[in-house]
Amino acid sequence: MSYQLDTGICHRIQNATPNEGELFNGSHTLQVLSLKKVGKQTEGVNLPSDRYRIVLSDGVQFIQAMLATQLNEMVVDKHLTRFTIVCVERLSCNYVQEKRLVIIMALRILGQVDQKIGEPVSIDVSTSEASTPAPERPPHQSVVQPSTSSITAQSASRPPPKGNWHPIEGLSPYQNNWTIKARVTQKSELKHYSTQRGEGKLFNVTFMDETGEIRATAFNQVAESLYPKLEEGKVYYVSKGKVNLAKKKFSNVMNDFEISLEKNAEIEECFETTNLPMIKYSFVTLGELQNLNKDSTCDVIAILKEYSDVNEITSRATNRTMKKRELTLVDKSGFSVRLTLWGNQAENFKPDEPNPVVAFKGVKVGDFGGRSLGMIASSTMTQNPDIPESHALRGWFDSSGSGASFQSHSNAGGSFGAAGGGGFSRSELKPLLEMKLEANRIPESEEKPVYFSTRAMVMHIRGENIAYPACETCNKKVVEDGGAWRCDKCDKTLAGPTYRYIMSFAVSDHTGQLWFQGFNDVGDTVFEKTANEVIEIKDRDETQYNLLLAKACCKSYNFLLRAKRDSYNDNNRIRYGVSRILPLNYKEECDALLDLMDTPWGQQTLKSESDMVVY
Ligand SMILES: [Zn+2]
Repeated sequence: MSYQLDTGICHRIQNATPNEGELFNGSHTLQVLSLKKVGKQTEGVNLPSDRYRIVLSDGVQFIQAMLATQLNEMVVDKHLTRFTIVCVERLSCNYVQEKRLVIIMALRILGQVDQKIGEPVSIDVSTSEASTPAPERPPHQSVVQPSTSSITAQSASRPPPKGNWHPIEGLSPYQNNWTIKARVTQKSELKHYSTQRGEGKLFNVTFMDETGEIRATAFNQVAESLYPKLEEGKVYYVSKGKVNLAKKKFSNVMNDFEISLEKNAEIEECFETTNLPMIKYSFVTLGELQNLNKDSTCDVIAILKEYSDVNEITSRATNRTMKKRELTLVDKSGFSVRLTLWGNQAENFKPDEPNPVVAFKGVKVGDFGGRSLGMIASSTMTQNPDIPESHALRGWFDSSGSGASFQSHSNAGGSFGAAGGGGFSRSELKPLLEMKLEANRIPESEEKPVYFSTRAMVMHIRGENIAYPACETCNKKVVEDGGAWRCDKCDKTLAGPTYRYIMSFAVSDHTGQLWFQGFNDVGDTVFEKTANEVIEIKDRDETQYNLLLAKACCKSYNFLLRAKRDSYNDNNRIRYGVSRILPLNYKEECDALLDLMDTPWGQQTLKSESDMVVY
């Protein structure tokens, strides 16, 4: 029996980034070169039991890894030995003292051979880049080269403070002696804020080099002194900033880290700017917008099909007038989406040609008409950028796209259906208290519901009015009329009503309690019975009915909620309607938590109690 090893996989594992899920969960055929029991303390980690170090080869290179303890038995039982061919099915990467530690979580034995396959060599981290092809760029990424006229190179520029500079991609909290050479691609206003602890100001910039981008923030005096110094489009040497985990909520920059610029940060303008990219995009197609959450940001490139005149609208919330202009964008995915420009951008917009290609960075996803887009303060818009995606779109539109018809995203449930959880988003999960605080900020003028994902336990179900008699055709309420049931809408007399749930129930989690409203699908899920069956029990035996209500409690579900402000009888409050109720799938929940541990978020250590979020 001969085996085909997955050549190149060792290199990929050694250079993997946390979001390469397919690499961590893929099936990789490798050969065991050696196995060694290591002490209970290794590489600074305290290990509770015996651990094995394993050397795995892909036939060209080999890599060291640790076996997860649940696999120890395979070694003890001698199923896993030297030269065994294995299929690695799950692995994770941890960083310990700046070194990558690969842990094999699951593997399957494919067979045993009696010699080494190929002449594998060790992955030497410093030479691996040169000796093997560089890892592929993620799809859809491209960079815009600066135009030659951008900034003239000056030979008199000062050398970087510390000799060589560091790639942005390589920045992490684990090292502090770095200097980056990067272009400012975006700079915010100097913003004022006030918190319980006082007033302050801050601003942030996005730095970019050939390898990536990172956001940097400065506060108060530092912000005041750096604000005039940093200019959009210019290149700087930056050092002595503090690298922290990024607060992704506030940022659309593709980096798990961000820089905090404190008093000792050093920033110097650089006049040699050759080859530094201007803007780095990570495009999604207009069709893929349905997979993104409302209020997330994304990059798109599309053809401008049409655009409206400038309109003035008056915000009901602030009573201020705003100018807006709607652009209609289309792309090869066959979708058409509306994008809103505001203020000066709306007023000054002028297409370069009849149907230009327009690239947007960091535009916000809305749910108007299913999916819509809007420019926000940090978004950028570029017409006809000189990048491959732009030329491809141009070619497509001029040859066939201009005659094509396009569909828009619809509000119908169908657009959610494909996303597995049905619009429920585990990464957006909010505890009840956080959700409540956020929902309370919904302005009174807001007519569209705001969606939230949460996980909570059903604590109490209101027993009276749990269902209403409905018409099986139109679901409208029907009335009993002299022994017969009538639907006014359908103008029909029915043999009997079909009951539909209309439920009000209390849920709670570790942060608080809330009342949710749910319709038929909610009742079907929590009772695992139809409303007809439950009403039949209720009418027949009140005790059994109460038992049924009690039994449906103390179960946890994932919920997708529509929160909406409701002024009823002068009683202004937020109503939480259940859009989706999903019984917990514990394997899925565990897998999601495990995935979280593989990300840099999972690798951070709690420095003090103040780092903990307490509700
Ligand atoms: Zn009807």
